[in-house]
Amino acid sequence: MSSTSLPVAVGITGGIGAGKSTIARIFSILGIPIYEADSRAKWLISNSQSLKSQIISHFGEQSFQDGSLNRSYLARKVFSDQQQTELLNSLVHPEVAKDFDHWMNIQKSAYVLKEAALLYETGSYNNLYKTILVSASDQIRINRVLKRDPHRTEADIKNIISRQWSEERKAALCEFTIQNNGTELTIPQVLAIHNQLMSEINR
Ligand code: ATP
Repeated sequence: MSSTSLPVAVGITGGIGAGKSTIARIFSILGIPIYEADSRAKWLISNSQSLKSQIISHFGEQSFQDGSLNRSYLARKVFSDQQQTELLNSLVHPEVAKDFDHWMNIQKSAYVLKEAALLYETGSYNNLYKTILVSASDQIRINRVLKRDPHRTEADIKNIISRQWSEERKAALCEFTIQNNGTELTIPQVLAIHNQLMSEINR
């Protein structure tokens, strides 16, 4: 790889509880840097002055209290209103895209993974070389999230699932799928994709 070439950006996505972070950790062990778009977005909301100002101008002064994000206020505003959710996403998304570009500039690997729950819904997959979909059935995802996040109810999780694209719709756009229902080994699936990407990128 020449010192001036940027890594190739590959997306990894899947619905809530599908196992994106878990699978991304396997790629990380192979030396692939992971950009966690959702946690980075949360960080930017609290730390980017321009994003803060935009959120205040659209959602009101109450969005921040003593300089910190008023999560419960904002969650109440957007949780059950698709239009408000889309508005918030449209403010956050360009900031994440910029932050991702900066991060990419300092990575040295052949490819990187951008991990996000919403890659297709936001259109950001269009800027990625290829995308990997981590797939698991709704019931398995619900059970895993209930176990991981005891504060959430089954109804909350179903609500989130109903607002994300269906597995079928995402499967039509991804180049790779990792089955994470617990019935197929995941490491061989990761290795096959990694080897394929490394041979395609070939540098
Ligand atoms: P979110 O969109 O909510 O951030 P995610 O897609 O990143 O979720 P993970 O956090 O990786 O999903 O996985 C959800 C939960 O399921 C975690 O507690 C994780 O440890 C568990 N999990 C993931 N894959 C498996 C598996 N193959 N077998 C058992 N548990 C798993």
